Amino acid sequence: MKVACPNCKSKVDSKDIKNINKKGIFIEKQCPSCQAWFCLNKAQTLVKAAGISLLLITSLLNIFNIKSEYSLVFSSVGFVGILIAIIITFFGKHETVK
Ligand SMILES: [Zn+2]
Repeated sequence: MKVACPNCKSKVDSKDIKNINKKGIFIEKQCPSCQAWFCLNKAQTLVKAAGISLLLITSLLNIFNIKSEYSLVFSSVGFVGILIAIIITFFGKHETVK
């Protein structure tokens, strides 16, 4: 997966990123060509985390058969959640960390 560095605009392969700094759900990465740190837009990171949580919660509800009459609704909501997370992963905007 390629990520565009917001600082030097070069396309960086995720595999080439050696330095990663995790701050809770915010993941900062260091560009291997210009050494600048960048991370996914904060708002998009939150939406992505919410999407993944939605999938987790709805999957758990379905696994334990809680409110099984809504299982189809849960599956749909979970699917939309993970879809949003995937879209943000691939098309999310990266910002330089100051
Ligand atoms: Zn760079």
